[in-house]
Amino acid sequence: MSLVAGVDLGGTAVNYTLLDQQEKFLIDGLCEHPALVKQGPEVCLRQIADGLKIAADKAGVLLSDVVAVGLDTPGPASAAGQLSTRGATNFVHPHWAGFDIREGLAQKLGKPVSYLNDANAAAIWGHYAIFGANSRETSISIVIGTGNGGGIILDGSVVKGKNGFGGELGHVLIPYQSIAGTPGIRPHCNCGRTGDLESLCSLTAIERNLLPYFLPRYPGHELAKLDPHQAAKLVRGLADKGDALCKDVFRVQAHALGLFFDEMVNTFDPDALIVGGGALEASKEFQQRFLNEIRVGMPAQREEQANIPIYVMPNGDTAGARGAAIEALKLARQSGLM
Ligand SMILES: [Zn+2]
Repeated sequence: MSLVAGVDLGGTAVNYTLLDQQEKFLIDGLCEHPALVKQGPEVCLRQIADGLKIAADKAGVLLSDVVAVGLDTPGPASAAGQLSTRGATNFVHPHWAGFDIREGLAQKLGKPVSYLNDANAAAIWGHYAIFGANSRETSISIVIGTGNGGGIILDGSVVKGKNGFGGELGHVLIPYQSIAGTPGIRPHCNCGRTGDLESLCSLTAIERNLLPYFLPRYPGHELAKLDPHQAAKLVRGLADKGDALCKDVFRVQAHALGLFFDEMVNTFDPDALIVGGGALEASKEFQQRFLNEIRVGMPAQREEQANIPIYVMPNGDTAGARGAAIEALKLARQSGLM
């Protein structure tokens, strides 16, 4: 039996999955261990290798059957997996600066390793869940979490870009002034821009831009009494229950995404648009309302493009590991290992 593994290395946890030749995942939910990223490359890579053995045991397969491994991490890193020399939020230990994490893991495991940033890995999973592993379709995925990540799968292949920044969709500017009911809003993003997708469509956007904008318009609202960081986390649940302010927040997020998707429709003429992330971990009714609002926020489309489907990404919490495994499957097939 030949298998590939997916390893999703986050700031606090590392999640594993295994995928066989028939494209069947051998681990259903999360297979997670605490990540030792803070302790630097040597400790972290050893722990990833140990965790992979645990994952193989859990799935009842041999580690020696794993012929290739897909790794994904938060960026910034090059398309080939070299972490930024200026450091990264999730890789603060000094030995990580400029470290080639893909090559490091390949040496540690003695197996070929493919690399993706976490948003692109999630986009590959979203695409695969709809079209399968050998598709030639084009999809645009957006993952709404603390920030806003995503990815472009063009004719079946992920767009990594020359510097690894391909599909950095959260920082694409949108014409936010045209969103109804938000006169005078000035949404700032951590990246320094005003009015990019992340500045309106992320958990950080709720805390920094949308609650400060809407709370004065709803005098006496219960969220005004809370610390903004805590209040932001309650917005999705309250919107799901019908709270007017929180519904306004999600309407603006959906309309921002509608404007962004319109840009992508005109750029790529895609087969599908996909939305995932914590923002959509709510009731089915909430998800459907959100998808409907995205459509409302999209300017009129050409007749041929009016029915491009919008999907909710399945298995959101395992998306990174699954996408990394699919990339490893591609590597294994191209290298004749499978
Ligand atoms: Zn930005």
